[in-house]
Amino acid sequence: MITKTKKVHNFSAGPGILPEEVLTQAANACINFDNLDLSLLEISHRSKNYEKVIDESHALVKELLGLNDNYKVMFLGGGASLQFAMVPYNLLRTEGTAGYINTGVWASKAIKEAKMIGNTKVIASSEDKKFTYIPKNYEIPNDLDYLHITSNNTIYGTQMKSFPKTSVPLVCDMSSDIFSRHVNGNDFALIYAGAQKNMGPAGATMVAVDETLLGKTGRKMLSMLDYQVHIKGGSMYNTPPVFPIYVSMLTLKWLKNNGGIAWIEKINQQKADLLYNEIDRNSLFVGTTAKEDRSNMNVTFVMPKPELESEFDKLWKEADISGLRGHRDVGGYRASLYNALPLESVKVLVEVMQAFEKKFA
Ligand SMILES: *Cc1c(COP(=O)(O)O)cnc(C)c1O
Repeated sequence: MITKTKKVHNFSAGPGILPEEVLTQAANACINFDNLDLSLLEISHRSKNYEKVIDESHALVKELLGLNDNYKVMFLGGGASLQFAMVPYNLLRTEGTAGYINTGVWASKAIKEAKMIGNTKVIASSEDKKFTYIPKNYEIPNDLDYLHITSNNTIYGTQMKSFPKTSVPLVCDMSSDIFSRHVNGNDFALIYAGAQKNMGPAGATMVAVDETLLGKTGRKMLSMLDYQVHIKGGSMYNTPPVFPIYVSMLTLKWLKNNGGIAWIEKINQQKADLLYNEIDRNSLFVGTTAKEDRSNMNVTFVMPKPELESEFDKLWKEADISGLRGHRDVGGYRASLYNALPLESVKVLVEVMQAFEKKFA
């Protein structure tokens, strides 16, 4: 058995950090799953051992999001990016209009796909200031088929602290902050999230949808793009991404067994407060987003003296910190504080920032 030789503080934006015990369980299941003397990777997805995994992963999602019985959960392939197309394909009527809030690259990609499928209106956008804030006080037409929002903008480090109040069905891309804080799942018509930020490994995407909204578009549906087909098949219309679903299930179990959303939300707030306080205090760093919209998941910051970047890079690498580079569209630094990242790792980063200031300010 291969083991890690040291503790690395993993701030990767995605695929992101997973709990140590989940990785161990996942590794074991690759060798001997459920004492079958078979690997999880070499058994039928229709075996009763695997059916338990699918059922439990669906149930955990419903429980953690507090979803009523009219919601159905699916785990699909194709990433969150396929949902950019599947959402309008399944919810936008041929005569209807979809609304979008444009808060960054991911939202823009979702808008691009929706426009291919039907009438699409951008209701509000923060593109004028390079997506450094969340638009507010916009009017939502009440005849939209749905309004699409992105709860957390992974690249820019902004997060919606409250959601639009509207009678229009709300669709939310929660890829990078799902299960990080309390939300009332029933306020949304559809929630989707790629697993690899805060839920599991790459390869599976979770979709939870109010089933009563489906089957009303007036278009002929391709089977693999039809939510109703996947719901009917119990996420097994075709062979599902068996391993990513299994690891997602382990991660959700880890979350539940440790105290659930209430437990993790508190820790996530402590981590974010610790780091933002240091960014605001430290003369060598500045945050890149509007303070009221700061993300608790992806903390973005830059240096007023970029010529010192290589010195800072040396220090954090020496401290066994990994994954701190900012997205190429923003530059600077991005510390992703996903659920599995311990408070301890943020403390180490803050100590490095303080040592850096002592040396260079
Ligand atoms: C990463 C990300 C995506 C894209 O996910 P893929 O699984 O790579 O398609 C979409 N939306 C948000 C908010 C993301 O963070």
